[in-house]
Parts: sequence; structure tokens; C-alpha cells
Amino acid sequence: MNKGIIKRAISTDGSIRLIITDSTEVVKESCRIHNTSKTMTAVLGRALTATSLMSSLLKDKTDTLTLQLRGNGPCGSVICVGDYMGNVRGYADNMNVELPPNSKGKLDVGGAVGRGNLYIIKDMGFGEPYVGISPIITGEIAEDITEYYATSEQTPTVCSLGVMVDKNNMCISSGGYILQLLPGYDEAVIDIIEENVNKAGPVSKLFNDGHTCEEIMDILFGSIKYEIFDEFDYGYKCTCNHEKYLKALASLNDKDFEDLINGGKNIETVCNFCGKKYEIELNELISYKSSMKKNTTAEESN
Ligand SMILES: [Zn+2]
Repeated sequence: MNKGIIKRAISTDGSIRLIITDSTEVVKESCRIHNTSKTMTAVLGRALTATSLMSSLLKDKTDTLTLQLRGNGPCGSVICVGDYMGNVRGYADNMNVELPPNSKGKLDVGGAVGRGNLYIIKDMGFGEPYVGISPIITGEIAEDITEYYATSEQTPTVCSLGVMVDKNNMCISSGGYILQLLPGYDEAVIDIIEENVNKAGPVSKLFNDGHTCEEIMDILFGSIKYEIFDEFDYGYKCTCNHEKYLKALASLNDKDFEDLINGGKNIETVCNFCGKKYEIELNELISYKSSMKKNTTAEESN
């Protein structure tokens, strides 16, 4: 089915924003594509869920948000990319990492990710992309997102992410939310929100128990008046195509490009995000490169 849902709400006074998603079907799709281990179903599931939530805050159709967890754990780097509709794709260097449960008896997401830095890259399609960096606090991802918003965007944030996994490594339920205090918030709401968040408990359990996004919103806002201002569907979506690979290969420096051509064999490549295979013929690559050169020369002479 590959369909997640995002709902966004704001308190009546405009000072508390809540974005919530049921990402179960999207994370299931990621399991099917990457054949993830139990631990990695949780790692990638949480990272994809966070990316959908964060990228849904982008302004324009063509904007993208990339979340990179560059930790020293056995799963290597985790990279997810989302667009302003929350559509996501992602992968990790090692999709087969399996660790014993952590001290709480849970899948050891933090152990797989390790310590290092979280990078949030927002590409608005012009100029240099915005890059925010914050340290990975626990590797459990939700806490790391909270830290990122506090240090890089100065926005007090509660992030909760959760993925339940069955014995076949498949996601059973997955979801998350980002709750943010916006400029002008009343200090008194901090205690109320904290209490409501504790009352709500782990978000994966809420979804697994069959709670809807609306029901979870009700728990989180509690006595605070709010309204849902939009909702939309999204999916696990890759943007790869034949020309992207052609362009990437043709953009290699002259030395590397020559080596590639001298290899004499068609180039086979696999998309990290979706597993799709591409075969590039050398003749096609050579003529693409020469057309690229012609275009650049034309631009330069203008
Ligand atoms: Zn792809």
C-alpha cells in the first residue's frame, strides 16, 4: 500500500505546533526494499519517520531535506531524503546489523547508530543548501532530533518516534510526532505538555494499540485548545532515473571518466534508495558527455 499519513495541528493561540504521522505502511515498504534486520527495521523506520515529519515543514514543492546520521556504530551512516509532502527514501551503509536487546529489553537502535553527528541539510534549489549539525546524544534518533532543534534552530521540541517489529523483521506499526513551542509561548504550558507526553507513553505502542493520529493529538494537547490545519498522504518514493546516473557518470573528472571508458564494459549500477538496477552503455555515456560539453561551451560564450 505504501501510504503514510501526516496531520498537522496548532494550538488556538498559535504557540504550539504538532505534526504527527502514522508511517507504518511506508516503513513496511522500506523493509521490503532493503530486507532489513530487526534492529535496522527500527533504525531506518525511525529515521524515515523523522525525515517525513521534518521535511513536511519545508516551504516549496522543489525543496528537499536530507537527514544524515553519521555515527560510529555498526550500521554506518544512515541517510534519508524527504520532500515537502513528506515523501521519503533512505538507506544505511549496513542493513543487516543485528544487536542483542538493550538494557531496557528494546531493539538497540542507539547501539547500531553509535555516536557522532546528525546533519540536517535543507536544499531550496538555489544558492548553498542550509546545513545544521548537532551531536548524536543517544543514537535513539528522537532525542537527537530534539537536540538538533534546540541547538540549530533554537526551537523547544519534543520528538517521539517508534517502530514495532515482528519476528520476521517486518514492521508491524510505526509512527511519530514532533511537538514544538513557537515564539511567544507561555512558560506554563511546558509542565502541561510534559505531563501529557508522559501520559501518552511510547508512540509505537499507541499506534500498535490502534489509536488514530487524532486520538494521540487529543492526549498530547490535553486541556489545550487546538485545531488540525492540514493532513496529507505520502509514500516511500525514490526519484532515481536513467538520466541521473548518466549525468553523474558524465560529470566525473577526465581521468576517472577515461578509466571508465577504457574498462570497455557497460556500467551497471544499483540505486541505494530503492534497489533499482540501471545499465549504462558506453556509447550512450560518451555522446551524453560530449553534448554536456557543447552545452557548457555555449553557455560560456553567451
Ligand atoms: Zn531509486
